[in-house]
Amino acid sequence: MFLQLEQPDDAFVDAIEDAADALGAVATRLPEPWSHMMRVDGLPAERADELARLPGVARTLALHPDRPLVDRARLGRTRGVRIGDAVVGGDEFVVFAGPCSIDTRDLLLETGAAVRDAGAAVLRAGAHKPRTSPWEFQGLGDPGVSLLRHVATSLGLPVVTEVMSPYAVDLMVDEVDMFQVGARNMQNYPLLRALGRQPRPVLLKRGAGCTLSEWLLAAEYVLSGGNEDVVLCERGIRTFESANRNTLDLATAILAREQSCLPVIVDPSHATGRPALVAPLAAAALAAGLDGAIIEVHAQPRAALSDAAQALEPAAFVEVMRRLRALAPACGRTVRSASSPAPDVS
Ligand code: PEP
Ligand code: MN
Repeated sequence: MFLQLEQPDDAFVDAIEDAADALGAVATRLPEPWSHMMRVDGLPAERADELARLPGVARTLALHPDRPLVDRARLGRTRGVRIGDAVVGGDEFVVFAGPCSIDTRDLLLETGAAVRDAGAAVLRAGAHKPRTSPWEFQGLGDPGVSLLRHVATSLGLPVVTEVMSPYAVDLMVDEVDMFQVGARNMQNYPLLRALGRQPRPVLLKRGAGCTLSEWLLAAEYVLSGGNEDVVLCERGIRTFESANRNTLDLATAILAREQSCLPVIVDPSHATGRPALVAPLAAAALAAGLDGAIIEVHAQPRAALSDAAQALEPAAFVEVMRRLRALAPACGRTVRSASSPAPDVS
């Protein structure tokens, strides 16, 4: 059980600790910045009321003992995460799009303008690329991040880009609107901790071999540092099926949304490696009540320096957006477009 305090007042905390002790339980205050919450272990359920009535206790909460902050019961709803003018986790389905990696300024500008005009709300592009082979293109690195900032600003789009090292967070924080944690780094705990202590929202991809519990615990790391702006991204897991690059685990993405207070989007590009499956899987995510999709698009897919095979041509991306917009009313949703007014964060 957890207690939420009216204020983090030491006198109340001491009295609560003593009362828990008298009941054979242990009450522990969570560290900053969550010191207005206390964990209570070993309390018989029928005696919960006795702590709930103590001065300074706002309410008791039955939260998952290992991931209380991510637990949906803490807020009782999905908490919207703002990026630029878009809110992920609100009424609108938000589409992120762009190339896998930044290659040249001109290609990035061309792709970015195309996805913006088709209705993408957020530009995606990587400068620090986690490639399976060390001989493959590793991204443009720090100069790529600056290039991305320039292009995103000139297009009027917010941008998400991957960070792989905790030491790079401070260097990148002023240039990005959202940090991406890639599938390979989902359990890079020093990185998650660094992202918990900075102000930008975080797109947390699920590791290809990670369970729902591990994914939510990775998010808990970020929240524990005080940053609640985390969006989960299901990008396909490794299964026995080799027909697709990975297997989009839509069922677990839905569970992640039901069990947490975090928005959940899907990445049908990395999940399948197949341009033709992007539209139906993005539509499935919309129909399933998820919050958005992140899609790889390239102005000249054949020239892309990474993930060329899965990149959509701009015309195919226009068609994805058309399909999503056609489907949305039947699902009681709207698809965010660059011209939509900025909603309130809830
Ligand atoms: C990417 O977004 O280009 C990427 C490397 O994704 P993932 O971490 O999901 O493989
Ligand atoms: Mn990619």
